[in-house]
This record gives sequence, C-alpha cells and structure tokens, in this order.
Amino acid sequence: MDDNLYGSRDKRGNWTPNEPLKKAPVFVLPPQPRAFLKWLPTYFLPWNVILMLIAGLTWYALTPSQETLSVLSADWILYLLARNSLGIFLFYGAFQLHFYWMRRQDIAFKYNGKWPRKKDDSFLFGSQLRENLFWTFAAGVPIMTAYEVLILWVFANGYMPFVSFGENPIWLAVLFLLVPLIHEVHFYLVHRLIHIPPLYQWIHSLHHNSVNPAPFSSLSMHPVEHLLYFSGILVHFILPSNPFLAMYHLYFAGYGAVVGHVGFDKVVLNDEKAVPTHAYNHYLHHKYFEVNYSEGLVALDQMFGTFHDGSEDGDRLMKERFRRRRAKLNS
Ligand SMILES: [Zn+2]
Ligand SMILES: [Zn+2]
Repeated sequence: MDDNLYGSRDKRGNWTPNEPLKKAPVFVLPPQPRAFLKWLPTYFLPWNVILMLIAGLTWYALTPSQETLSVLSADWILYLLARNSLGIFLFYGAFQLHFYWMRRQDIAFKYNGKWPRKKDDSFLFGSQLRENLFWTFAAGVPIMTAYEVLILWVFANGYMPFVSFGENPIWLAVLFLLVPLIHEVHFYLVHRLIHIPPLYQWIHSLHHNSVNPAPFSSLSMHPVEHLLYFSGILVHFILPSNPFLAMYHLYFAGYGAVVGHVGFDKVVLNDEKAVPTHAYNHYLHHKYFEVNYSEGLVALDQMFGTFHDGSEDGDRLMKERFRRRRAKLNS
C-alpha cells in the first residue's frame, strides 16, 4: 500500500498524513449526529474491542477464584505478575515484531523516517529498546500488577461495594463505555502535572527520552509516573463498579498505551487493507513535547490551546504560542 496516497514525506524522511487531526465529534457544539454516527465504530474498532477481549479473557480464564484472591499470598501475586509480564511482552512484541524487527512494511506510514538507533549511549544500557524494556518490566508491569492486586483483593473481601452485571446491567454498560473517557481525563490531568518543570525533570523526562517512540516506549516511565498513570483505576472504589470493569480500565491503560507509541499511522495488512493506529496525536506530543497532552478523544487540548493537528497551520500556531510564552517569561 502506497503511503503517498495518504500523506507526504519531507526531505528528512518524515511522513505527515494529508488529513489534519480533528476533534472527535462527541462533545461538540452544535451536536453533529451524522459525524458522530460515522465516528462511533472507530471508538470500538479495532483497539477498544481488542482491549475488551484481553480483559475479558484474562478475567474469565486467567484470574484466580474470589476465594483465593481474598487472602493475600505470594503465590497468586507472583502468578499475576508473570501473567501480566507475558501478556504485555506478547502484545507490545507483536507490534515490535511487525514494524521494527521484521520491518514488514519498511517505513510505509512511519512518521519519523529514521529507525531508533541500535546503539545509542544516551539511553540506559546503550539503546532505546533496552531502556524501554527495563522500565516496562522492572517498574511498569509490577506497578500495574500491584494495582490489580489491590483491586482484586479489596473486591474479593467486599471492602468496597460490588455491583454485578445481574444487579445493574445498564449502569455497568454505561461505565464500560465511559472507561476510555475517564482514562483520558485522568491521563490529561496527570500528564499536565508532570510537565510542570521540577516534576518534568525528575519524573516525566524519562518517558520523553523516546523522541522517536516505538512499542516498548509506551510504559517506559519513571515509577512515580507509573503510580500516577495507573491511579485512574481507583475511580472504581468511588463509583459503583466491579473488579472486571476495574481490570478493563487497568488494561486499557496498560495494554492500550502501545497504540499511541507504535510510530506508524497504519498497520498495513495487504495491498488494499490497512488499520489506522490513531498514534499521530501522541506522536506529535513526543516530537514537540508541549502539545497534545491528551489522547485526542476528549477535546481538552483544543479547550486549553495546546492542540497541534499535525498540519503546517498547527505548526504555526504552536510556534506563536511558544513565542508568546517566551515573551511573557522575559517581560
Ligand atoms: Zn508517550
Ligand atoms: Zn509528556
């Protein structure tokens, strides 16, 4: 599939899609019912459905019984850690294998024309991939698992109210649909917080080491960022919920993070078929740092003036904003 039909590559080899990023027609005034209906399937397909399936399969087939979960024990905690490590390795690894190890589509639809260097001493252990793997598996997955242990143990003991699908199916279905929105608002707030200068240097600069992100950059974060990033799932202790929904939320954050970091606009399946990744919004954040703090589902960046739509116009607006800020700081 020819990526020139969908975008253009500049002299440096960077590819830009023809279509600028648009806000999702969800919270827009006046309402756009036709655009909303056209957009709706993309809310589910394919990524949300895949994440729902991972959460469902894990909950029904790979999670110990409520009785086991009610008593903290190293056995099942280590089992969850191993199961999550393997799950994340396989899921992120599938993208890594397709795009980077096998280079199945070379640089077709790759935003940054260059590949992350095999050897780069600015990274821990001498390469971006090694640094990314280290923070993902030494901190990211263990902290994600710690949150999962907390949820499962609290719900298994009934320390928090537990609503079953039989009791209140409508509310739980609504909450299920709201999870991506709740995740987005929480992510935006945490993300703005850790871009504030002392916190940025201390915590978030580690994630931004990967200027040319690849799948394993997704959870390559400082442990404090992991703690904040996954804390959104604590909302299931405030709203009426149940452990399956909390797990879906946790996996949406953990497994789902890869979608924004693949570095490619589409997964090419064959000459005619390609699946959009929706990675461009967050790719621009890794490229320019101070734009697109949200993931683009809720128009928070548009609201707060930090949106970059990927076009030349978006570039101009961003530069104007940076200039205004510099002038204000120097005055
Ligand atoms: Zn990122
Ligand atoms: Zn950031």
